[in-house]
Amino acid sequence: MRRPEGAEVLIPEDRLQERVAELGGEISGAYAGKDLLVIGVLKGAVFFIADLMRHLEVPCELDFMAVSSYGSSTHSSGVVRILKDLDIPLAGRHVLLVEDIVDSGLTLSYLMRNLQARDPASLEVCALLTKPGSARAGVKISYVGFALPDAYVVGYGLDLDQKYRNLPDISALSGSG
Ligand code: 5GP
Repeated sequence: MRRPEGAEVLIPEDRLQERVAELGGEISGAYAGKDLLVIGVLKGAVFFIADLMRHLEVPCELDFMAVSSYGSSTHSSGVVRILKDLDIPLAGRHVLLVEDIVDSGLTLSYLMRNLQARDPASLEVCALLTKPGSARAGVKISYVGFALPDAYVVGYGLDLDQKYRNLPDISALSGSG
């Protein structure tokens, strides 16, 4: 699978997989003795979740939501419509929301308010990637894979016009920083 023209690898596959395994170890330690409900947001987080869950050593269930964000393709507005809701109720559950990438944090902030209202026993966030502005929305991200510079990235679930999700590494588009 070819990368987009001029794209530069930021995180090679071996470094990515090594960090995902580390995150799995950290999360397993933090939830020792508890059952976990892992929630992913379609579609970008699918590859990350599939790898991360194979490193979790606590009993865990998996559920997905699909959302669409109003705004342009490169800037989210924080106004989110739920296209597919969860199948599993959150009340009393230890919930880990897994995100592919947090940019402005607006999507995450909306999702956290929505999920918190369903009364989970705990609610934490794991994001594979964060961008420099992600702290501004004020959501605590307990587990971060990599803090990236401000660039548009593709691969490992992340798309450009729905393509390149199947690249095994993360690359930055040239001139996107
Ligand atoms: P936020 O609301 O944090 O600004 O936007 C988060 C969403 O925007 C992510 O879940 C992802 O769908 C999309 N996004 C933000 N930055 C990138 C990027 O660099 N590459 C790709 N493929 N999607 C991105």
